Amino acid sequence: MGTHMKKTIRDFEMNHKTVLIRVDFNVPLEQGDIVDDTRIVESLRTIQYAMKNKAKVVLLSHLGRVKNERDKSSNSLKPVAEKLQSLLNKGVTFVPQTRGRELEEAILNLKPGHVLLMENTRFEDINGNKESSNDPELGAYWASLGDIFINDAFGTSHRAHASNVGIASHLPNGIGFLMEKELKMLEPLLNNPEHPFTILLGGAKVSDKIGVIASLAEKADYLLIGGGMAYTFLKASGIETGSSLLDREQLEFCHEMLEKYPEKIVLPIDSVVAEDLKRLHPRTCFINEIKEEEIGLDIGHKTVNLFKQYLEQSKTIFWNGPMGMFEQPEFQAGTKEIGAIICSINGMKIAGGGDTVHAIKEFGYEKSFTHISTGGGATLELLEGKTFPALEVIHD
Ligand code: ADP
Ligand code: MG
Repeated sequence: MGTHMKKTIRDFEMNHKTVLIRVDFNVPLEQGDIVDDTRIVESLRTIQYAMKNKAKVVLLSHLGRVKNERDKSSNSLKPVAEKLQSLLNKGVTFVPQTRGRELEEAILNLKPGHVLLMENTRFEDINGNKESSNDPELGAYWASLGDIFINDAFGTSHRAHASNVGIASHLPNGIGFLMEKELKMLEPLLNNPEHPFTILLGGAKVSDKIGVIASLAEKADYLLIGGGMAYTFLKASGIETGSSLLDREQLEFCHEMLEKYPEKIVLPIDSVVAEDLKRLHPRTCFINEIKEEEIGLDIGHKTVNLFKQYLEQSKTIFWNGPMGMFEQPEFQAGTKEIGAIICSINGMKIAGGGDTVHAIKEFGYEKSFTHISTGGGATLELLEGKTFPALEVIHD
């Protein structure tokens, strides 16, 4: 899946044209505040290029999941429009609609070089999952609002939605600068990583990443597993993990993986545990000493040192998923220390995933990485070697 053959935003004459740009503004929010604006910042180059070339710029993005009316207020793109406005230092027209007269008139009235952001594309999921199931009528409708379509939303390109695949199939199209950069940076990892190639996985659930674990184990020399997902692997290896996260349905899969890759897969040997969800009485213990009522919420220092031995000999490192519940100070040491170790290593170091990137930025490590991807699931699926529906429809 090379970028070299795909049309890019550079290939279009955009003067006075209405250019629909699918961006990835799916940013983490806490009580309505944007806690990490990486994805917005990374989209600026494409947006500013279109503005400079006198396009009428119409932006579309999803944000979170919208399944009912109640989800709407907490998933509005309005705060994103405000953030974008301050980053661009220029007015952004926000239209709180995903279809209809108000939106159509606002686009007609848009001046060349100006930017409009429509409301969260997933508001269209409320009646029949139209956005997320790539409803043909919806894609055709959105396409009718513009002249050219640019897909710059790498983080969603592994999914076929109306706002990427749907629109693209009706308009002259290309990719934006962010998409181009992501593919260029991730390709070497996919095609010929320098060995030893170590993948560090963490985060909450095995089931989210199950598809990729099998094929990543194939590609990598070492697969270091921390975070919440480690406990399902530990349980599968016969260890009592107390009340830690457990993906019961994945136990058998984890067991098979451990049988198949006994040398490659490396699991935690100690853990920071707490007594219940109130995180009472945190303590560090050996992995086989977790009590029934205890929850493992971080890797312990011995595990950090174990993982360090693998990381230090690696020429290529890919990291997805925090090592613990790093949002809580008691459980951030594992993620923080592992991040510091990766920073100190020479070689290609790539990280991806919303929460992983959030942690990396919080601890100030971003400069030490070769590339920080805006994609989580997309990055993992790319490493798996999958082709992406939202790229397949982009013309060569
Ligand atoms: P990413 O967004 O980088 O792909 P995930 O979304 O898979 O990562 O996982 C991130 C979440 O996993 C974080 O919110 C973190 O608190 C949580 N997490 C990490 N370790 C644990 C653990 N041991 N128990 C419960 N949750 C955990
Ligand atoms: Mg996440």
